[in-house]
Amino acid sequence: MSDSHPDHDLLCCADAAALETPTQPHKADQFGCPCCAPVLQDLGLMSLPALSNASRETNWKRLGTPPAAHSGTTLLHNATIITADADFSTADALAFRDGRIIAVGTLEEVQAVAGEKADIIDAKGRTILPGFIEPHMHFFPIAIMNRLADVGAFECENADAVINRIGDLAGKAKPDEWIVARQFDPSLQEGADIITRHTLDQVAPANPVFIFNASLHIAYCNSKALEIAGINAKTPNPPGAAYGRDADGTPNGVLQGQATMFTVLGHNLTALALEDVPAACRDVCARANSVGVTTFCDMASGGFQGKGEIDVFHAFAASGHMTTRLRYSLIQAGERNWDASDIAFGQGDEMARATGWKIVSDGSNQGRTGLQRAPYMGREDHGIAYVEKDALRDMVVKRALQGWQVVVHANGDQAIDNALDAFEAAYAAGASRDLRFRIEHCSILHDEQIQRIAELGVSPSFLIGHVHYWGKAFRDDIFGPEKSLLLGRAASCGQSGIRWTVHSDEPVSEMGPLRLIDNAVNRTLWKEPGSVLNPAERVSMQDAIIALTRDAAWQCHSDHEVGTLEAGKFADFVVLDKDPLSIDPKDIRSLQILETWVGGRKVYAA
Ligand SMILES: [Zn+2]
Ligand SMILES: [Zn+2]
Repeated sequence: MSDSHPDHDLLCCADAAALETPTQPHKADQFGCPCCAPVLQDLGLMSLPALSNASRETNWKRLGTPPAAHSGTTLLHNATIITADADFSTADALAFRDGRIIAVGTLEEVQAVAGEKADIIDAKGRTILPGFIEPHMHFFPIAIMNRLADVGAFECENADAVINRIGDLAGKAKPDEWIVARQFDPSLQEGADIITRHTLDQVAPANPVFIFNASLHIAYCNSKALEIAGINAKTPNPPGAAYGRDADGTPNGVLQGQATMFTVLGHNLTALALEDVPAACRDVCARANSVGVTTFCDMASGGFQGKGEIDVFHAFAASGHMTTRLRYSLIQAGERNWDASDIAFGQGDEMARATGWKIVSDGSNQGRTGLQRAPYMGREDHGIAYVEKDALRDMVVKRALQGWQVVVHANGDQAIDNALDAFEAAYAAGASRDLRFRIEHCSILHDEQIQRIAELGVSPSFLIGHVHYWGKAFRDDIFGPEKSLLLGRAASCGQSGIRWTVHSDEPVSEMGPLRLIDNAVNRTLWKEPGSVLNPAERVSMQDAIIALTRDAAWQCHSDHEVGTLEAGKFADFVVLDKDPLSIDPKDIRSLQILETWVGGRKVYAA
């Protein structure tokens, strides 16, 4: 690390092994995982201003006067209140004072505690749940990517719709203005597998266009963008990356691998620059609130600018504008920065707090870089250890002994073995049994691993979109039918007494607890309507709700304050149009989040 650029070695994937691996332009890259993609780091370095400046108090004044905190007593009645407490009990009234719940129960019981002067709200028979907790997302990547046009599967049904959308944007753009879009995913969107300059030029002949593939490992641009970047038939491929080319060698606009993407990205810094950090932070929270999230966990904090990011989190919290509680896990790659600071487990307050220490131990199964016991289907490679077994153990032991909840990203079964060995070593070295070690994504689990997880008291968080979005690809192309049954084994974990959660890992898949519940309860395949991947691993609606409320709160060391609707906890809740326990599980996606409340204050209304 050079002293003048202290932030530049904070690469998510933690070690050179990941970076020296050439980004191969094979088909599997379409499924790559931004969670561990170095490209996000470079994107962050490119687009984020100095966050140490952004954290200054004056910056946050731009957002205006923060809304007042909840004061007085409010009584809410005529509702189906699912408390998610230990008995999973329901109630019909709830009261809160100064942001915290003071009573839950029948109207009479709650009235007796709330007193005569309480403000009364008639919930009109709607259903109230604890606010959802998103246990794994990436705050600054969302802030950066949020502002780019979304041409992903939720917005554009197929590749043609993507092109049309770009055409619309070009029609509205000023001359020379860059059009930058994100999220194109040919594994989810029907039609052309790639977008070339030929199609883009037809709808956007004058403005430069740049589209990120959802994986961030591939991008697509038009002739204008190539021209600005000076890329032509004579331009050689950079090491480890390639320009897609026409038969005559002219680049066709497809940029395969990070090095090619950055030759173009370097020319549109203004389009990417995140100038208004406070507004971007506010927008991340607002979007989380709109899908019912009241607490979320940033799972690679400090990956871009080390302490600067932490300073922004706390300045944001202090500004009064933060509407989603934030828990964060420091990324291992920044360890020198953390060691030089006084940051410790539990530092912060109810709005923003350090809870975890994150280590990325392997790649992604979609990208065939998850570390496996056996080779990938039809291949000889086992994936990649981003951190070797012994080094992983040393890192885990060291941080566990400092009191950190260590959180290990492990996708492949071998990576999970290594993580479990490391946790076991930490206990042997004297680490507390209540650190709540987590395995993130925890994609492939054999029976004997589930037993070990139970014995060690470790907690998995599944990227459940692996089942729904990529399940077919795992079954048909990556693992084969047998091993793909081992994906996201929530039901088996539950039966073994393990606390588990599910997460979006946004920007890998979009935040949306109801979607996560749908994926865990139904395990349907997006690309094969009517099919279910391993029905035995489907969970009940009740268990899925517990996963995203009570158990997610426990996973992020916040179960003393959020996760259930019980006296003493914060009045963080969501209002749904229907009772999820009374609908056909197939209709989960029809549920609507009508309102989201944090600390007794309404932060979202549909
Ligand atoms: Zn990850
Ligand atoms: Zn992640």
